[in-house]
Amino acid sequence: MPLPRLPAPLFKSLALVGVGLIGSSIARAAAQSGAAATIVICDHDEAALARAQALGLGQSYTSDVTVAAAQADLVIICVPVGAYGKLAAAMAPALRAGAIVSDVGSVKTAVVADVAPHLPEGVHFVPGHPVAGTEYSGPDAGFATLFRNRWHILTPPPGTDEAAVAKVRAFWEAFGAYVEVMSPEHHDLVLAITSHLPHLIAYNIVGTAAELEESLRSEVLKFSAGGFRDFTRIAASDPTMWRDVFLHNKEAVLEMLGRFNEDLTALQRMIRRGDGQGLFDLFTRTRAIRRSILQQGQETAAPDFGRRAQETDGE
Ligand code: NAP
Repeated sequence: MPLPRLPAPLFKSLALVGVGLIGSSIARAAAQSGAAATIVICDHDEAALARAQALGLGQSYTSDVTVAAAQADLVIICVPVGAYGKLAAAMAPALRAGAIVSDVGSVKTAVVADVAPHLPEGVHFVPGHPVAGTEYSGPDAGFATLFRNRWHILTPPPGTDEAAVAKVRAFWEAFGAYVEVMSPEHHDLVLAITSHLPHLIAYNIVGTAAELEESLRSEVLKFSAGGFRDFTRIAASDPTMWRDVFLHNKEAVLEMLGRFNEDLTALQRMIRRGDGQGLFDLFTRTRAIRRSILQQGQETAAPDFGRRAQETDGE
């Protein structure tokens, strides 16, 4: 079902810097919902830019971030978080007074530290993170309904203009997202356990399988439906994006990894000691967590590991 159309655009000119999975999904959602009157697409990758143009994702296309920023009343940075600092410095002189700068980065404390110091007086900074994604990248991977029924977390620094935050909230709500505001530090801790650690575990288990001797490795692929293949889907996520996530949310990820390792050691001990009751109790508690995620509408109860035609639970 397409997104409902707004009676009037919220922004005259939207600039999307980075037209990958997320940038191209925003372009499609903004066009479908009518949230922005015109869309400027910017990417340093000429092939991605040409592809975005072929797909008709915007009204103008540029590889120069100052050209994109100069036209926009909303700029959304949609590139891997490691590129933010340089990008913010480059676009800053071109930003219009009163413009809003937002982003979609999966990490927030480092993003605020890297971007905020570059932004001129009179430009509003409203960082954000759509908790929606897939393991695919590039302009072809996006779709207009990626954000529907998904959370969008805003982490505006203290003192941010309330009207700017309200406009960004309305923008994401037009895509069917639920919006919540929290501090960047809290965001990073929560996402470390719900998204970053699961990706690390997936990268690790698939990496372990890749290192197995040949005979065992081919059996792993053959019998992957036993659970392994779901890890392979997560471990197929964009290497640049995820490298940057781990390097920029170091403390929170290491904190959660410490707890994870302690719990893993406890599980190891239960298996060694034959503590069936301990294992049963833990697995009963984890099953209840799955049920509450289903009740909150964040996953489907369909069998086959909840696979759907269009998966939107990437991160
Ligand atoms: P993507 O599909 O890889 O697209 C990123 C695009 O930005 C690529 O075309 C890339 O070109 C371009 N780019 C990189 N650096 C740039 C720069 N300095 N100036 C202009 N363009 C630049 O990435 P994505 O999955 O959309 O992720 C984008 C952001 O969304 C990341 O910060 C990520 O943390 C966040 N996010 C991702 C997901 C997800 O599931 N994928 C979900 C929520 C949030 P090159 O590839 O040629 O460098």
